[in-house]
Amino acid sequence: MQIPFLDLQRELKDDYEKIMDRIERVVKSGWYILGQEKLEFEKKFASYCGVLNCVGVANGMEALQLIFQSYIELGELQKGDEVIVPANTFIATALAVSQCGLVPVFADCDEKTYNLSRATVEEKITSKTKAILVVHLYGQASAIDDLKELAEQHQLKLVEDAAQAHGAIYNETRTGALGDAAAFSFYPTKNLGALGDAGAITTNDATLAEMVRELSNYGSKNRYQYAHKGINSRLDEMQAAVLSLNLAKLDDNNNKRRDIARRYLSGIKNKKIINPSVNNFESHVFHIYAIRSSNREDLKKYLQEKGISTEVHYPKVIHKGNAYKEFATEKLPVSERLQHEVLSIPIFPSLTNEEVDYVVDTLNNW
Ligand SMILES: *Cc1c(COP(=O)(O)O)cnc(C)c1O
Repeated sequence: MQIPFLDLQRELKDDYEKIMDRIERVVKSGWYILGQEKLEFEKKFASYCGVLNCVGVANGMEALQLIFQSYIELGELQKGDEVIVPANTFIATALAVSQCGLVPVFADCDEKTYNLSRATVEEKITSKTKAILVVHLYGQASAIDDLKELAEQHQLKLVEDAAQAHGAIYNETRTGALGDAAAFSFYPTKNLGALGDAGAITTNDATLAEMVRELSNYGSKNRYQYAHKGINSRLDEMQAAVLSLNLAKLDDNNNKRRDIARRYLSGIKNKKIINPSVNNFESHVFHIYAIRSSNREDLKKYLQEKGISTEVHYPKVIHKGNAYKEFATEKLPVSERLQHEVLSIPIFPSLTNEEVDYVVDTLNNW
């Protein structure tokens, strides 16, 4: 059996006609940037997340960047301020901080959840720390209660990188509404994906949302009047239309991912493999299902021979990569161990029970 890591063609098949209709509507409208489709999606996504404001932007990294740039324009952060970020994440998390002239401070992750924890963040707080950028890694909401307490105690902004966690619920609150502001990516492979690059920010802070809106459009609120040095980072009408359609399926798709995760969790029984730890299925949307093994490379090769495609998220912690070599002496033992042990196995809504069972049996026979 051949099992791809992700098959977007298969994911799209049932909705092909609906998507083509929507695209045709946009094409025929003659209006492609900053129009009704974007406004409609922003309204829907804000309401889905349970926040007052959503602003569509061009991608997830710029969503993060625009949040921090807005805080700087609003005088709430200053260049040179420190932002605590996990070392075990996709590089865009750190890049967004650096691009704004802020200083990323890498923190280790919790051994069980692979997310930031009170302990790993607390040891990194200095007098220069002004924000925590928390990533809900693999789709599992972080321990927000603890981090919120820390943020309040030290007067720090709490920003979510929710690029992997659309729809996850922590204590009855969805990601996107858990901190002061949140950034989402709608890269095609994410739980909520577009047919190209796309992203958004969500927040209850209307002033922040307005600033993100301005900065994302060259820093102008009114045409040809530029109050700030902005960028061009806009969600286009075609992607917004597709996202409105896909948003309607998000909960269903997340539940399908959860069902697969349940099958994996109860089925995979091999002493050489560690399953992820899941506290609460509602708080996890399983963007990625990462198992662990001290013999990861052998396992990856074995699965490939059996037709099962896998990925590694992530093969290098950020502070050990060339882009951030100035942080190379930093020691974050849990993150550094994980980079050698984690292996992501296929998990996407249209995976069949037969395919999931084949993955389970193959893993158990290793
Ligand atoms: C995908 C991702 C991003 C970046 O999103 P893009 O839309 O690709 O720019 C940022 N952070 C995390 C954790 C991601 O998984």
